[in-house]
Amino acid sequence: MEQLEQQLGQCSYCGGSLHPKILSYYDQIWGDETYRFENVPALVCAACGEIFFTAEVDQAMDRALQGHPEPKRFVQVPVVELSV
Ligand SMILES: [Zn+2]
Repeated sequence: MEQLEQQLGQCSYCGGSLHPKILSYYDQIWGDETYRFENVPALVCAACGEIFFTAEVDQAMDRALQGHPEPKRFVQVPVVELSV
């Protein structure tokens, strides 16, 4: 178990341990657009919740976007101005 945690590494923000998790979705900004990937394997920091990806997953998302994929579907996102 210790070995596994070493392989997964530590959070580069807080030093917490990373745990594998499948994200139901992840929004990736690509140029002026945002693409949503579904079922993305990620590493999530147990302490601060920061999300990391292995180089393999990162490259797979890049490759997918470079191929100008035909989207499965589109989602509408409400845009709201925040006044503080
Ligand atoms: Zn962290």
